[in-house]
Amino acid sequence: MNTLIIIFVILLGLAAGSFLNVLIHRLPRGESILRPGSRCPRCGVPIRWADNIPLISYLLLGGKCRVCRSPIPARYPVVELLNTILWVASYLKFGLSSVFFQMIIFSSLLVALSFIDGQYFLLPDRLVFPGMGVGLFFLFAFRPVPVLSGIGGAVLCAGLLLGIAWLSQWLFRKKGMGGGDIKLTAMVGLFLGWPRGLLALFLAAVLGLVGWSVLVLLGRRRFGDRIPFGIFLALGAWLSLFCGDYLFLGVRSLVQSLL
Ligand SMILES: [Zn+2]
Repeated sequence: MNTLIIIFVILLGLAAGSFLNVLIHRLPRGESILRPGSRCPRCGVPIRWADNIPLISYLLLGGKCRVCRSPIPARYPVVELLNTILWVASYLKFGLSSVFFQMIIFSSLLVALSFIDGQYFLLPDRLVFPGMGVGLFFLFAFRPVPVLSGIGGAVLCAGLLLGIAWLSQWLFRKKGMGGGDIKLTAMVGLFLGWPRGLLALFLAAVLGLVGWSVLVLLGRRRFGDRIPFGIFLALGAWLSLFCGDYLFLGVRSLVQSLL
């Protein structure tokens, strides 16, 4: 029975990942999400349903459009696979519960937002605001965390980031954070509640600092380039969601050893 559910979660996760690819491609261009059907961005020929099966079609086609043979970006299978892994991890952690449904929506939103942010430095309101709505709905309907913790998490995390943004503007005369980053942080706080939301923000800052330093050292980015903070916030949120318990223990023993 359990295996059957996992297979079902995998199939749905792949299908949802395929839809996320549509969102990632069309939302930043302001195109309709539903129509027309999928087309090859190079030759414009509609993609047959048999060539539109998540992951499988990409492998069968060797990563190329059947008609014009132009390469299909690796993003397509990566997004489908990542989304599926997150859905299966949510099922293994939460079982078939309201928290499972809450967190697969949360994770999928983060996948779409981080890929859009990575490509366009953009966190579209058309995705973040509905995300906040879903977060509020689950918070009040199912109370995965106390309502005060959810609202408090959103206010605290967004407020903290806003403070950092003001500070960096004042110190470096430069815009550190965009409004999109702050709205996304509020969304993360709504879903995770205050201790986990704060942990997510902390991890995002650490990962962002380390990750960006490595890219600068490798010469892939320059110091002062814009940082797609949404990617790091998503990574921090996933770590906090799936490994938060262990991380809290680790942080506690670290603090105790320092005191
Ligand atoms: Zn083509």
